[in-house]
Amino acid sequence: MHLEGETIKWSPRVPQHKIRVLYEKDAQGIIDEELIDEVAFSFFARCSDILIVTEASVGRVKCPKCGTIIKHKWDKKELMRCKNCSWGMTWGIYFKSYQRKQLHGGGAFKAFEIFVNELPKARNAREKMLIIDRLIHEAHQWDNPNLTEEVFTRPAAVNIISGKLNQVRKFLIDLSIGPERKDNHDKWKERELTWEKYSENKKKELEAAKKSKMKE
Ligand SMILES: [Zn+2]
Repeated sequence: MHLEGETIKWSPRVPQHKIRVLYEKDAQGIIDEELIDEVAFSFFARCSDILIVTEASVGRVKCPKCGTIIKHKWDKKELMRCKNCSWGMTWGIYFKSYQRKQLHGGGAFKAFEIFVNELPKARNAREKMLIIDRLIHEAHQWDNPNLTEEVFTRPAAVNIISGKLNQVRKFLIDLSIGPERKDNHDKWKERELTWEKYSENKKKELEAAKKSKMKE
């Protein structure tokens, strides 16, 4: 994130082709340290911004100049002013800067937070690749107290890799997966199915309700 004139520029999502090359090499057993670092750094910037935006959405904006937290009340005309460095912006302009850019952590917030915490601790390229792999195979978990089983809605990759939801989903399915990455990939596919299962059950429930109503 950085200031650009009157607005804020957020770190972009990482282009698919970079990840594709990374995984093709990885599947062949090639450790391309430079590429791993480049991708890891881009994800780090993107995930850090996701954490900042998610916090802002619950009322705590981080001053882009000095990092001081400024509390606000979601009034678009409200001027948020930093007590430390006097930076200021209305909530309306701030909100517009991140709106519809897949920058809200939602049900995958923890996954982005873990990545930001874990990456600096990685000692070598192999460990960085493990952390990247875990991140791109995360999914948004639906936070709903009425659910009896875990339900995952969409891939976390949508927030950090370029493309629309279905494109990113297809991209992940088609990714070259080496033996070391198979477990995370399989786990992600299983999580994807929880949403389909949930939707199907809901459909059945609705149909059953309709039928019983017709009988009345
Ligand atoms: Zn400040």
